[in-house]
Amino acid sequence: MTEMTSKLAMELENKYGAHNYHPLPVVLAKGKGAFVWDVEGKKYFDFLSAYSAVNQGHCHPKIVDAMVEQARTLTLTSRAFYNDQLGPYEKFVTEYFGYDKVLPMNTGAEADETALKLARKWAYLKKGIPANQAKIIVCENNFHGRTITIVSMSTDPDARKEFGPFTPGFVTIPYNNLDALAKELEDPNVAAFLVEPIQGEAGVYVPDEGYLKKSYGMCKARNVLYIADEVQTGIARTGKLLACDHENVHPDILILGKALSGGVFPVSAVLCNDEIMLCIKPGEHGSTFGGNPIAGRVAIAALTVVKEEKLAENAERLGKLFRDELRKIKSDMIELVRGKGLLNAMIIKPKNGKEAWDVCLKMADNGLLAKPTHGHIIRFAPPLIITEAQIMNAVEIIRKSILSFE
Ligand code: PLP
Repeated sequence: MTEMTSKLAMELENKYGAHNYHPLPVVLAKGKGAFVWDVEGKKYFDFLSAYSAVNQGHCHPKIVDAMVEQARTLTLTSRAFYNDQLGPYEKFVTEYFGYDKVLPMNTGAEADETALKLARKWAYLKKGIPANQAKIIVCENNFHGRTITIVSMSTDPDARKEFGPFTPGFVTIPYNNLDALAKELEDPNVAAFLVEPIQGEAGVYVPDEGYLKKSYGMCKARNVLYIADEVQTGIARTGKLLACDHENVHPDILILGKALSGGVFPVSAVLCNDEIMLCIKPGEHGSTFGGNPIAGRVAIAALTVVKEEKLAENAERLGKLFRDELRKIKSDMIELVRGKGLLNAMIIKPKNGKEAWDVCLKMADNGLLAKPTHGHIIRFAPPLIITEAQIMNAVEIIRKSILSFE
C-alpha cells in the first residue's frame, strides 16, 4: 500500500470528498490530551477541540475504555427493544443536569430539531396554540446546525443561499436585545425562545450580564418555553457546567451534544421535565442510533471525567489567565479579545493584506491549531484538561505568530 503523507491525504479528500469544508492544510493522525500530531509527526496544540467536542482531551483513556468495552459487548439494538445501558444512562444524565427526562439523539442538529418538535407539541397540547400557528423566536447570527429547518432559522447567507424553500414558524430578533424579545413575546402564539447562551459559531459573542436571567424571566411571564442550545457552550466549556449556570437559569429545554461524549462518538441529548417530554408519544420521534448502548456508556464516562477532573473550575481559572495574557500582546492586528472560560475569540484587523486565515497558518507552522470563523475572528477553545504551563506555552506561540506580521 502507498505510504500515507499529508499531501496524499489532502489530495484524496479533495478528489473524493464533497467540498463542504475549507480545512487548514494540516492532516492529523493522532491525538492525546491537549495535543494532536500530523501524519509526519509534527505536534500541535489543539485550540479548536473539534468545535468544543473534545473538552475532556483527545482519546481520554476512561472514555475510550468505556467505548471499547461496550463495543465488544453490544453496539446497537435500535429502540425496537430495550437495552441494558440506556436506562442507567438516562438516570445518570437526568440527575446530573436536574431534569425529569432525556431524549437521546446523536448530533447537535438532531437534538435541536428534537427540541423544536417538543416545543411545538407542547404548544398545541399544553399551551393551546391553534393548530399550525406555533412560533419560535430565534436570534440573528444563530448557529444550530445544518438541516433544512435549522438553516430556515439562520441569518447567514452561506447557510441559506439556494437551499429554500424554508420551514416557516420562526421569528428572528437581534441577539442580546431584551426589547426586541419583549415585543415578540406579546404574540400569544409564541411557543418558545431558542437561544445560545454565548453565540459560538457567530464568533463567541458573549451577551450582557443579566441577559439570560432577564430573558428567561420574560419567557416565564408569557408561558413561553426557554430553550438553551448548549451544544457548544455546555459541559464545562465556559467555566461552569452549563453557560446558563453563570446566571442561575435552568432552561425548560436543554440541548447538549459534542462534549457529551468527549468527542469519541456522536452523542446528543435533549433534557426537559415530564410536562414537556411526555407530549411526544411512541412513533412520533426517534433515531436508529439514538440511545444506543455505546452512547450511553460513553456519555456516563465523559460526564464523570468532567466532574472528577474539575474541568469547569479549570476552564474558569485558565480562561481568565488566557484572556489576560492575550490582552498583553501589543499588536494593532488584535482588535479585541473576548470570551468566557475556555471559549474565547480574538478579532483580527487585517494588516498588509494578512488576515485571520494567515495568522492561523502561521500559528499552525509554530505548533498551534485554530480556525477563523467569519473571516476575521479566531476562536480559541483548547481541551479543558489543559494545564497552566501549557496555556502559557500556547500564548507564546500566539504572540510569536501575530508579531511575525509586524
Ligand atoms: N448547536 C450549536 C450551538 C453548535 O455550535 C453546533 C455545532 O457547531 C450545533 C448545534 C450542531 O451540532 P452538530 O454539528 O453536531 O450537528
